[in-house]
Amino acid sequence: MSLLVVGSVAFDAIETPFGKTDKIIGGAATFISICSAYFTGRSNLVAVVGGDFPKDDIKLMEKHGVNTEGLQIKEDEKSFFWSGKYHNDMNSRDTLVTELNVLENFDPVVPESYQDCEYLMLGNLAPQVQRLVIERMNKRPKLVVMDTMNFWMDIAMEELVKTIAMVDVLTINDEEARQLSGEYSLVKAAAKIREMGPKYLIIKKGEHGALLFHEEEVFFCPALPLEEVFDPTGAGDTFAGGFIGYLAKHDDVSFESMKRAVVYGSAMASFCVERFGTERLIDLSDSEISERVQRFVNLATFTI
Ligand code: AMP
Repeated sequence: MSLLVVGSVAFDAIETPFGKTDKIIGGAATFISICSAYFTGRSNLVAVVGGDFPKDDIKLMEKHGVNTEGLQIKEDEKSFFWSGKYHNDMNSRDTLVTELNVLENFDPVVPESYQDCEYLMLGNLAPQVQRLVIERMNKRPKLVVMDTMNFWMDIAMEELVKTIAMVDVLTINDEEARQLSGEYSLVKAAAKIREMGPKYLIIKKGEHGALLFHEEEVFFCPALPLEEVFDPTGAGDTFAGGFIGYLAKHDDVSFESMKRAVVYGSAMASFCVERFGTERLIDLSDSEISERVQRFVNLATFTI
């Protein structure tokens, strides 16, 4: 089934205990669309960049299965820029710079050829823009998944709550779940957030795995213990790309299917952190993905 991905396409500058990058290609929708295309074959992107964004990188995304028909290029403006610095444990980071630039007045256009998409992934972006994309689809997709972050909770909580009310699945990290709900316990936080609208909630806990909440059920998937986490940037987006990519591929939105999708999302995220930016994601084979998923199965399966 076809998938529409919206979110930031950006320049990132990243600092980790292992090194530092100049401006490299990043952005939520970049990670999501490249990752999900391993499952869908082709993922349809809606995003905006400035004239400074390298045309070669757009071609590279196309080569990796991203349909860029819905990518607007504002020649006279600058691309979104984000810079972050990771602490020694790599589980927490500080945002150093967020320059919205071209995102400030982003008016998303959903091309006619995307209108029949059954799956919609709202990657990290201003919540009012995420909502516009839902509203600009002729028919509500079968499944709408949304990711967001503390930045939007700090500056646009009211808009965020309105958009959250319209989605089926929300993915956020543990700190964001606490901020959004005002609850420290993640179980209480999950209950409160689900009352805001989404029937399903995924709370990502970095190297401590991910939780999927639905009604009275909870599913847990660990993160793969890795010798070295090189750069966690984009891990959450890559998780989302694997999650929705798997669901779209199998066209099954049952809770059982979502559990498997969480494992696929976690497996894809485990690749992302092995190198800077999208470097590792553009270099995967189907057999590597299957082997990695099997490692998750082995890691978490036991009989009593
Ligand atoms: P993650 O590590 O999965 O949380 O995502 C990191 C990506 O999110 C980076 O590539 C950034 O370009 C992008 N990003 C950071 N802040 C924002 C924001 N406020 N809105 C949209 N995208 C953002």
